Amino acid sequence: MSATESTAVDAALAAVPRGLFIGGAWVEATGGGVIPVVDPSTGEEIMEIAAGTAADVDLAVAAARDAYENGPWTRLSPSERGRIVWRIAELVEEHGEELALLETLDVGKPIAASRAADVPLTADYFRYMAGLATKITGETVAISTPGEWHSFTVREPLGVIGQIIPWNFPMLMAAWKLAPALVTGNAVVLKPAEDTSLTALRLAQLAQEAGVPDGVVNVVTGYGHVVGVALAGHPDVDKIAFTGSTETGREIVRAAAGNLKKVSLELGGKSPNIIFGDADLSQAIPTSADAIFYNAGESCVAGSRLYVHHDVYDEVIDGLAVRAKAIRVGPGLDPETEMGPLTSRRHLDRVRGFLESGAAEGAEAVAGGVRDGAGDGDGFFVDPTILVNTRPDMKVVREEIFGPVLVAQGFDDVDEVVALANDSQFGLAAGVWTKDLATAHRMVRRLRAGSVYVNSYTVTDPALPFGGFRQSGWGREHGREVLELYTELKSVAVAI
Ligand code: NAD
Repeated sequence: MSATESTAVDAALAAVPRGLFIGGAWVEATGGGVIPVVDPSTGEEIMEIAAGTAADVDLAVAAARDAYENGPWTRLSPSERGRIVWRIAELVEEHGEELALLETLDVGKPIAASRAADVPLTADYFRYMAGLATKITGETVAISTPGEWHSFTVREPLGVIGQIIPWNFPMLMAAWKLAPALVTGNAVVLKPAEDTSLTALRLAQLAQEAGVPDGVVNVVTGYGHVVGVALAGHPDVDKIAFTGSTETGREIVRAAAGNLKKVSLELGGKSPNIIFGDADLSQAIPTSADAIFYNAGESCVAGSRLYVHHDVYDEVIDGLAVRAKAIRVGPGLDPETEMGPLTSRRHLDRVRGFLESGAAEGAEAVAGGVRDGAGDGDGFFVDPTILVNTRPDMKVVREEIFGPVLVAQGFDDVDEVVALANDSQFGLAAGVWTKDLATAHRMVRRLRAGSVYVNSYTVTDPALPFGGFRQSGWGREHGREVLELYTELKSVAVAI
């Protein structure tokens, strides 16, 4: 790192506010506990964040409740709320380089990706949602009850929203949660992942600078089993919006049962990517490599199960192996890096466990694999890996690895590949590669997934609803559909 780069990194870290953000003020965690922040590229501790407690969650929920019931936020016009959320987008862009550095330091992802994707997508998300603030509508309803009526529906905010997010795209996930909750007039307590809280803290500060009143956005950093559990079970939280693993999603649902709070869930995936014999391989091969190796495979929609028609199987696997071996794996801050380390040592151990299990069950690595994944220095590195000779019953095929590991299998016909693709507890995304329009449309109908990409992969746009079938989630974020997650529908019947 050059002296200039190192100064920029120091300045970005120094700009991160210390403590928890409660009621518009930065406060120490009750008990003064801290969590080390580790740079995944080196394994070194770079700073500390506050380890919030259940008592801090009580304080944050009380601040949010007060802001919701008594503050100016719900009384602002939709246009004024939209204007403030738009301003957050501008501030994200103004502080783009600093936020990109923080995201890369915290998560390990390549700085080129943080600059080109995480920062602009975060700003775009706030902007899209700012526009929705003035488009929240109900409808008039013609009812048949005897008498004369004016009947209509209105959408109202839910109140206090608890939001719990994961570590793979921390800033973008914070935007996906905060922006729709804000434009619909709610107050929020956000819990970022304990491994990656830096950009959420800075984002809360920027939201305050943009004009979000105190108490409307609160951030309590801390462990899932402490802060997350307290938030999910809190009797004065009206809704939990959760993004994370399916396993934790189940715990959230149990915890939310106490006061029957509303719950929306964006959970895990093990998404099939299907290449037919007539596909344009010049597109299918590079995009399928990106579908699994982008963000080191730490992507919920990653195309992690590859099904290739036997006619083109060898060509596709060879092409993917060449690409996998060519990916420049390195420290996130190196501008040449194409794939960074995994985000934590715990996760590195988990992914290595999968690689060992795959090898033990007879899968063969044509790129990467358990031996090559031994790491680089003290960073949490794994090589891009492609496993062949896999069977549908293998652990590496059934479970979400959430790392740069592709499992591949051949197929002969449509019915066979539909059965293979749908044989999963998950249903987040699916990819289909074919030049035949009929095959494409038939596959779109038959695949059990919340998002289907045809001759492409990972198209997430703020306007396009996003969420999972089956155990990949409840509800849809993005688009107008997200308004349903953050509002109650009130039906009104006025006797005339
Ligand atoms: P995780 O479930 O371990 O943690 C997610 C968040 O939940 C963290 O903030 C964590 O502290 C908190 N948490 C942990 N235990 C909790 C509990 N008992 N109660 C309340 N909160 C708790 O998931 P992760 O490992 O951080 O993220 C990876 C997972 O997230 C993958 O399964 C991935 O597919 C999924 N994900 C899904 C989407 C989507 O939109 N569908 C997007 C990104 C990630």
